[in-house]
Amino acid sequence: MPHNLDKNKKKCYTNSSTLKNIQIQKKEVTAMKYKVEVLTGIRPTGDLTVANYLGAVVPVVELQAQGVSPVVFVADLHAITDNEPTTVRQYIHSVVADYIALGVDPKKAKIYLQSDIAGEVTTLTALLARHISVAELLRVPTLKDKLKANANPKTANALLLLYPVLMAADILLNRARKVPVGEDQLAHMEVTRLLARRFNKRYGEVFPVPEVLQVKSLRLLSLKGEGKMSKTNPRGAIFLTDDLKTVANKIKAAETAFEGIMNEKLESHILVAKGLAKTESEREEVDAIIKAHKSGKPVMGQFKQLLTRIVQNFLGEFQEKKAEIVRDPFYIPSVLKEGAKVARENAIETLEEVERVLYHTQ
Ligand code: AMP
Repeated sequence: MPHNLDKNKKKCYTNSSTLKNIQIQKKEVTAMKYKVEVLTGIRPTGDLTVANYLGAVVPVVELQAQGVSPVVFVADLHAITDNEPTTVRQYIHSVVADYIALGVDPKKAKIYLQSDIAGEVTTLTALLARHISVAELLRVPTLKDKLKANANPKTANALLLLYPVLMAADILLNRARKVPVGEDQLAHMEVTRLLARRFNKRYGEVFPVPEVLQVKSLRLLSLKGEGKMSKTNPRGAIFLTDDLKTVANKIKAAETAFEGIMNEKLESHILVAKGLAKTESEREEVDAIIKAHKSGKPVMGQFKQLLTRIVQNFLGEFQEKKAEIVRDPFYIPSVLKEGAKVARENAIETLEEVERVLYHTQ
């Protein structure tokens, strides 16, 4: 099952001169260099919510604004852990259009589809999976939470167990330096770092150990205050696809707080309002209303009107941009094609190094 090495390159290794051998041996004790500065994945599992935008897209757009060229991959293989493959396929182009309309610029960022390099990803997954035990994977806290929440260990599919290994393969194939993650993904990153160190120790320094780029922790709540804002609870979520009337109705029915009281729900709505506001003066309007609320004035109706206006403006602009992006049916495929080319080159280079230390090919 080894990944297909480029025949000419392999020949070049086997026919190498003494000098080349020395260089190769030296390379074996020198960790490979990082290749991608920042890597992030998106699961194409449905329409995005404003929480996805503020929690996952904004950090990438901010990094891009600081001059970093992120690599974004659409994690369709991860997504089939808990979604039908047909559903996942249906959202691939849509989620790429979302990211571009939200500010990820394909001229700066590379966007690729995980399954476009499925051979490389699954090969490395298998090679890495040998270095972690089933017992260790069962102890990954995120898995424990998922099993408690909506799956039973007896019936949960095995991809759930392998999820952190697949994630490690994505990161290590890219030789990514930084991976922006929220608190929920910290344990997965530890698995990636552990696998990189174990593999390096056993076979030679192949993988640069990635760093965690912990993004500002953000946990937006459902508008109705029932847990996190999430695709799986549509009543309390504002989707990027919601029309203006739907948004107004959802915000009208949102739970807030009694005069003078601050609670988690209201704090979350304030974060949405300020995060989506286009201008400083809108943010000041939010502050003024909240100040009045804290002093005991009945201003929640006013706050909801302002929140509705801010969200509607944001969505109106976003939906217009997205419509423009998807108007050309060849645009998204061309972005993904270009991304796949770069990702494949990078992945093949990494796997060649992996195979060289594994099989002592030169
Ligand atoms: P999901 O849609 O659950 O796959 O979430 C994808 C990413 O969106 C998460 O890893 C977070 O970065 C972000 N996200 C999703 N829901 C929320 C939320 N309620 N609050 C903040 N960020 C969120």
